[in-house]
Amino acid sequence: MNELIHTNSDGRRVVRLPAGAKVLYLTKDLSKIRAQLDGSLRLSMADVTPAELLDDINTDVMTPAWVCFRHKPEDIALDAYAGLLDDAGERVFGTRALMDGGFTVIVSGQRKGTGSSRETAVQCEKWSGIQLVVASSFAPIHERNNINLGQLMTDHAVLARLEAGEEIQLETFTGEYDPVTRAILENGGLFEFGKRLKDGEIALDLERTDERPMTMAEKIVATHLVQSGERDPGTAVKPGQACLVRVDAGYSHEFTTAQVHHFLVQEFGADYSLPNPAKFAVFEDHLLYADGVARFAPFVEQIHTLRRLQKEFQVHTGVRDYSAVDGVSPGICHQVAREHFVDPGDFVQATDSHTCMGGGNNALSYGVGSTEYAGLIQAGFTFVEVPESIRFHLTGRLVQGCTAKDVMLYILKVHATAEDTLDRVMEFGGPGLASLDMDERATLCNMATECTAKSGICEADELTLEWLAARRPNVSRGEIAAKFVVADEGAHYDGGVHEIDLSAIRPMVAKPHDPTYGVAVDELEEVAIDIAYGGSCTAGKNSDFDFYARVLAEAVENGRRVADGVRMYIQFGSADVATYAREKGYLDVFERAGVQIINPGCGACIGCGPGVSETTEQVTVSAINRNFSGRSGPGKLYLASPLTVAASAITGRITAYRPGMFAAAAASV
Ligand code: SF4
Repeated sequence: MNELIHTNSDGRRVVRLPAGAKVLYLTKDLSKIRAQLDGSLRLSMADVTPAELLDDINTDVMTPAWVCFRHKPEDIALDAYAGLLDDAGERVFGTRALMDGGFTVIVSGQRKGTGSSRETAVQCEKWSGIQLVVASSFAPIHERNNINLGQLMTDHAVLARLEAGEEIQLETFTGEYDPVTRAILENGGLFEFGKRLKDGEIALDLERTDERPMTMAEKIVATHLVQSGERDPGTAVKPGQACLVRVDAGYSHEFTTAQVHHFLVQEFGADYSLPNPAKFAVFEDHLLYADGVARFAPFVEQIHTLRRLQKEFQVHTGVRDYSAVDGVSPGICHQVAREHFVDPGDFVQATDSHTCMGGGNNALSYGVGSTEYAGLIQAGFTFVEVPESIRFHLTGRLVQGCTAKDVMLYILKVHATAEDTLDRVMEFGGPGLASLDMDERATLCNMATECTAKSGICEADELTLEWLAARRPNVSRGEIAAKFVVADEGAHYDGGVHEIDLSAIRPMVAKPHDPTYGVAVDELEEVAIDIAYGGSCTAGKNSDFDFYARVLAEAVENGRRVADGVRMYIQFGSADVATYAREKGYLDVFERAGVQIINPGCGACIGCGPGVSETTEQVTVSAINRNFSGRSGPGKLYLASPLTVAASAITGRITAYRPGMFAAAAASV
């Protein structure tokens, strides 16, 4: 329970600061932060204006990636704010600085917690003793993570009242939220809420919605409602409604499982068990190649601990095991999940932001933090605030040289930057969608994450049926088709309905260092490249291999291979994809073109394997989904389609693929 919450003798619940409570102000003047940390300066709201406070503190600043190799929150907290550096590149917060400072409140400016959705950012504050987080505004996922961990949030005006000794109604901190969120926060976070709900100490008066036309996402939530532990299908839902929802499947990977296991042991004891382990899985895909990467050398011990604890969790719980065998991963979690167990109409949760890729299978799936995941695999259900939807009605057909990746780079440039997609489910449908195969549909949903959307979901059709029937030998076609989810006529889309003519899409790239920096390839200045990488969950599927092979085969047939001075890597998304590529004869083509082929895994996408850049001057063209600074090495990374990546590898500069381009070039010599 949050120690700032008190119950008065009249039963009123209030928030007050203890006498002498220390408040840390994250000022733009970094010397003032240092002075507060060493105890030589104390500030209050009377001394500081919001304009003097740091804005846009991102989660990388709070817990840089290297801190995330630790799995215990108390260890993560040791290096809280390790990413806040001064102009000389020196850390403002030394090791233990926040923890030893004895602060109860931390204060910043606008948009606290932007960037990646990592829950460790909140953990570093909570396990350093912070119980109240103050900012002008919060990034939505960061706010949700604070709620799940029972961290109170407020604004500067309320803090000024608390500093003046006022006792403030708890309602002031929680009243803006729906009933479930309020209950989570008022009960000290998700775990405590879950326990009390199970013990009958909390009675939730959940809103019900009469029948109404619903989007695909709303229909999936509606058919998974849980009320007081009983299934309650047949009730409609609407955006913003608070629901408890049954979860069909989920998974975690070696970056996150150890923390899930740690939380479950802490909350439920070392002999905890999961009610339905067969629904959940663990994957070894993210850090498989870390052992040979120089910049991960200092963290090898921690990475081994993460692997060991994932194994321990799998053996302890009996969840499905997708560990590497003889050093080879069965594949990237999202790709294997869609191949093996994500089905139409499912509600899927996993500890990774690209979980939304399962939407290509006509399922509602998205990523959650470790706390939420631990809670839901233990309870079998989770809390959902019904998301708004936005529909993309696709018409026409892609021209040769374009892929679903180009569509997403276009949507990122046009709709994500306008925040049309923000926190909404992107619903894809229309005759244009029917012209895209299942792997291309998965690309659309995968990159919903880059659009800062909640998730993506595609309409199902005959192609969906064929693809799933080939991979679900024990399920009849009738059973698969019966699970298809279709949006209702008249469903409301808060983000609007946007028609995209696929025939108008041109080959695109996103310039460094943001996926929204899209530009048509033919409008791009000449960009020479050093590295071309094809792989990741976004671009390691069967169709992506068809694309790489199409370009490279044409190049080889015309006497070309990867350009001098360029290295090209192609990495399988899964073992099934590797088998497909082998059977198609692609490996021979790749080898003749001079491509290095890599076993399945996340690899260079997470900066952990062949294909990462080594210097800031190097330029990479890559088919992965995000190009944030430093993610795949220190160089400049352009995002592009598999076709563009392969064509660029041959020409040595960023080049869109045109059928026959190498034959024409050969003829002109
Ligand atoms: S391939 Fe990249 S984006 Fe996909 S799950 Fe792995 S690290 Fe994440």
